[in-house]
Amino acid sequence: MDTMADRVRRVRETIAEAALESGRRPEEICLVAASKTMGAEAVREAILAGVDAVGENRCQELTEKLAQGAYTGAPLHFIGHLQQNKLKYLVGKADLIQSVENEELLRQIDRRAGALGIRQAVLLQVNIGREEQKGGADPDRLPELCALAGSLPHVRLEGLMAVPPVFAGQENYPYFEEMYQLFIDIRAKKYDNVSMNILSMGMSGDYPAAIRAGANMVRVGTAIFGARTYPQTV
Ligand SMILES: *Cc1c(COP(=O)(O)O)cnc(C)c1O
Repeated sequence: MDTMADRVRRVRETIAEAALESGRRPEEICLVAASKTMGAEAVREAILAGVDAVGENRCQELTEKLAQGAYTGAPLHFIGHLQQNKLKYLVGKADLIQSVENEELLRQIDRRAGALGIRQAVLLQVNIGREEQKGGADPDRLPELCALAGSLPHVRLEGLMAVPPVFAGQENYPYFEEMYQLFIDIRAKKYDNVSMNILSMGMSGDYPAAIRAGANMVRVGTAIFGARTYPQTV
């Protein structure tokens, strides 16, 4: 049976190949372990095996595992659907909130971060496939969201995140390319107080393609932890 260390090493090797193919160094790609449903022990093993950060999807799970000391030694990211009434559990706890999708969330994060006297790092999630039930901002709304984020004193916008429509591997490539183009365009506009440095896209099924298209952060769950089992709901 392979170990956590084996799996993380294989993911790193795949990342390195894709990075080199796209003219970048392997160290430029940040590996976020997407740890939803995984216990604190598995998260600690992944951190020991050398992932760069851990990403959680649910507030309650994050809060529980945080209390168990699961994230010691690695930055904690929030990558799940953001609800306003859950922000109090995230602002100041997560080092990076990747899934901000509208103006109201930006303002609420700013307010809460201000109360804590911090500046909260965030990414804007983009609904690049323009899918109806999918989270994320419409690509057309990015200019105003970037301008707003730059005007909020307790928010630091660091880049973009996307979860494109789910296809096997290469078929996502056009979406990844479109995301990279948006990222480059926004960066060129140089919004005040916005640092467009992070492009977070790619999961277990498609992270090599995402990196080849320009991602510098990938969120990998299954390839690190194995398949997820969700509790049965009746
Ligand atoms: C679960 C999840 C991932 C990782 O998915 P895998 O296919 O298991 O690698 C990445 N990003 C988000 C937002 C997720 O919810």
